[in-house]
Amino acid sequence: MTDHIVILGGGTGGAVLANDLADRLDAELEADEVRVTLVNDGPDHVYKPVWLYVPFGEREPADGRRPLDELVDDRIDLRIDRVTDIDTDSQRLRMRDKTSLSYDYLVLATGSTLAPDEIPGLAEGGHDYYSESGAETLREELLSFTEGHIVLSVIGTPHMCPAAPLEFVFMADDWFRKRGLREDVEITYTYPIQRVHGNPHIAEWARPIMDDRDINVETFFNAESVDPEANRLTSMEGTDIDYDLLVGIPPHRGVDLVEEAGLGDSGWVEVDQHTLEAENADNVYAIGDTADTGAPNAGSVAHYQAGVVGRRLASDIRGRPATATYEGKTLCFVETGMDSASFVEFDYENPPSPVPPSEKIHWAKLAYNESYWLTARGLL
Ligand SMILES: Cc1cc2nc3c(=O)[nH]c(=O)nc-3n(C[C@H](O)[C@H](O)[C@H](O)COP(=O)(O)OP(=O)(O)OC[C@H]3O[C@@H](n4cnc5c(N)ncnc54)[C@H](O)[C@@H]3O)c2cc1C
Repeated sequence: MTDHIVILGGGTGGAVLANDLADRLDAELEADEVRVTLVNDGPDHVYKPVWLYVPFGEREPADGRRPLDELVDDRIDLRIDRVTDIDTDSQRLRMRDKTSLSYDYLVLATGSTLAPDEIPGLAEGGHDYYSESGAETLREELLSFTEGHIVLSVIGTPHMCPAAPLEFVFMADDWFRKRGLREDVEITYTYPIQRVHGNPHIAEWARPIMDDRDINVETFFNAESVDPEANRLTSMEGTDIDYDLLVGIPPHRGVDLVEEAGLGDSGWVEVDQHTLEAENADNVYAIGDTADTGAPNAGSVAHYQAGVVGRRLASDIRGRPATATYEGKTLCFVETGMDSASFVEFDYENPPSPVPPSEKIHWAKLAYNESYWLTARGLL
């Protein structure tokens, strides 16, 4: 009998896992004991961290795209299609074209989706760099912005890359300073809870940098609506902020089909945070943003989780107990300007302790972004 592993989602987690399995299960694939299918709803793999640099004119959106069939090992069946339904009882997926695909093991790696419509006026009045088109449009605005008030508002958590909003305001501050425009540009950062970042250690590190750089901070600011005519952002707490350019980090959700399949709320899959097995179905794993583990929605997390699930699946296929576990490992480079960055590494037990920013770490982040394409192939 041939076991069929289906990976749903060809982003960071899905691509790394597909290549991991091609390598790890080489003999079983060769002997037809196992088959691995990767399903993605588009032909390209998208590397989102590139979008942070697009509004500043430092990178092109196309730098974050490569065809999946160039990235994924030939031993993997690549299927470009959209899954519209998951039936965990019959272990079957339905596709947009009404065909179906059965699985013995399913790994959900469907990532995050943006929900700007949850905030009235945000889609019309706000800009973002959390989508390819958003980053491109924001670039048009930012490159011609020479004076006025930029407001970056983090609207709800969890969101992808918890550090990216801090990075944006640190980079904007430095970018306008270097161009002699900072005195004419006011920058405000809002965050929904009582500190500037979800993680207290990162918040404690970032806040003095924001104060030193004259970045205004509004905490306990839960954006409720945007008035695109008046250029006004209003919070549930009743505070109004007038802006000239609004950069909103939109509310995030997982994908609807997760909730429809009873696997978790808001599209996030309920999993055991160590084994990454779904709580509400057998033979289903989740990795990356969609796995509700408490770890950040970050590519590094998706990458490490892919390795754990790869090892667990290989054990299962070989009839051995699966012992690999995910311990919350997260790595993150944090840009603190246009040419300096910090770095954090943490897990479920050990909190982050950001290292002093340096130019060397900034170059390490840029080098990592280039070498990502080797990582996704499973070569690093
Ligand atoms: C601006 C920005 C900067 C970032 N910077 C960093 C950083 O510096 N470091 C870091 O670690 N992380 C960073 N991230 C976060 C990182 O990009 C995500 O956490 C990571 O992509 C999550 O990987 P994933 O595999 O879970 O999901 P994704 O990479 O989003 O992949 C999900 C895939 O599933 C597909 N899919 C979804 N539904 C279906 C369906 N029904 N049928 C078929 N296919 C489907 C999607 O099309 C997509 O290809 C950043 C994100 C942003 C937006």
